Amino acid sequence: MAKSPANARKTLTSYTIKSIAKSIRPGDYVMMRAPDPSKPYVAKVAKIVSENGGSNNVKVHVQWYYRPEEVVGGRKQFHGTKEVFLSDHLDVQDADTIEGKCKVHSFKSYMKLDAIGNDDFYCRFRYNSSTGEFNPDRIAVYCKCEMPYNPDDLMIQCEGCSDWFHPACLDMTVEEAKQIGHFLCHDCLSQDQRIHQTCHAISRPAVIRVDTKRRRM
Ligand SMILES: [Zn+2]
Ligand SMILES: [Zn+2]
Repeated sequence: MAKSPANARKTLTSYTIKSIAKSIRPGDYVMMRAPDPSKPYVAKVAKIVSENGGSNNVKVHVQWYYRPEEVVGGRKQFHGTKEVFLSDHLDVQDADTIEGKCKVHSFKSYMKLDAIGNDDFYCRFRYNSSTGEFNPDRIAVYCKCEMPYNPDDLMIQCEGCSDWFHPACLDMTVEEAKQIGHFLCHDCLSQDQRIHQTCHAISRPAVIRVDTKRRRM
């Protein structure tokens, strides 16, 4: 490897992106310029390097997050609008193509957010860009349709079996689902009726809590 002059390449602990007046550090999540301005690339900064020791030729070493549109198989119904996959794809880019900082949450912490900002994303899968494989390769499924959970979609919970259901899969509108006082799925309802027929109970079933898995806005 060629020996570089002492004043050449230098690793930086932070760098200020002038266009956004924000300082970035290794470990930060950033949004970078993309052909579609509404869908900036999302990346994690691994290293910041000044190519000539100054501040006018600074590169960032990044690990890309892929959007569902960019993976083998494309966007699936259960992929949320803010879903990204941590890829094994490393790259070096001009630091000045960074358009903003962002946050990539775990799925669990994303679900706990009180409000989702433009700069909030979540990651529940790693993606191998050469094989097209996801890790984990299995995920919990819900509803009669047996789909993984999409946090953009409202679901209602059956308190009999605790499963979650899409209103559409219950022949219900979203508005109806929001207004429903309590909910038992078809299976739990018929089981509930059988129990009541057997023991001639006169009390009504316990009040069923209705909740949505959807994030609070
Ligand atoms: Zn469904
Ligand atoms: Zn049920």
